[in-house]
Amino acid sequence: MVDKANSEFWKNIAPIAKPFKPDALPEAYIHDAPSDDERLYVPFTATVSSRPLWISPTQNKWCDILMAKRAGLVNRHYHPHEVFAYTISGRWGYLEHDWTATKGDFVYETPGEGHTLVAFDHPEPMRVFFIVTGPLIWLDENGEADGYFDVHSYIEMCKAHYEKIGLGAQAIEKLYR
Ligand code: FE
Repeated sequence: MVDKANSEFWKNIAPIAKPFKPDALPEAYIHDAPSDDERLYVPFTATVSSRPLWISPTQNKWCDILMAKRAGLVNRHYHPHEVFAYTISGRWGYLEHDWTATKGDFVYETPGEGHTLVAFDHPEPMRVFFIVTGPLIWLDENGEADGYFDVHSYIEMCKAHYEKIGLGAQAIEKLYR
């Protein structure tokens, strides 16, 4: 249950008796999402890692904290679907755009866009909350499709890492909604 109210004006409001429809899935709560515990971050590229927070196999969609301790790269790829991002710390951007994101910055990447994600050297690691609808289509130097990465690739990658660090693949399955 949520903490008890003291002086808050809403202290006498009762919670909804049956908050969930019978077929609804449980809510998700993760304490300290952009954790300092590096084990929770799954290596995604040689320089960028991802802490999974929420995964939807049926929507081909996931939420994560993308992290790079220093300069980082997620090489060129195309998104047929939308991407949202909120910057928690660090400095990052896409080679294709004319802005550089820092703490507090919000980004929307429109469906039908290719980009190359770069993280800068910065006193604070790049930590960005992402909502990604898959797949990412990897592009070669000529901008031609060269493979893909979707929610199923993400799950496989996360499970392997969580097995390796001793948290187990089930820790990833608990994030499914
Ligand atoms: Fe992207």
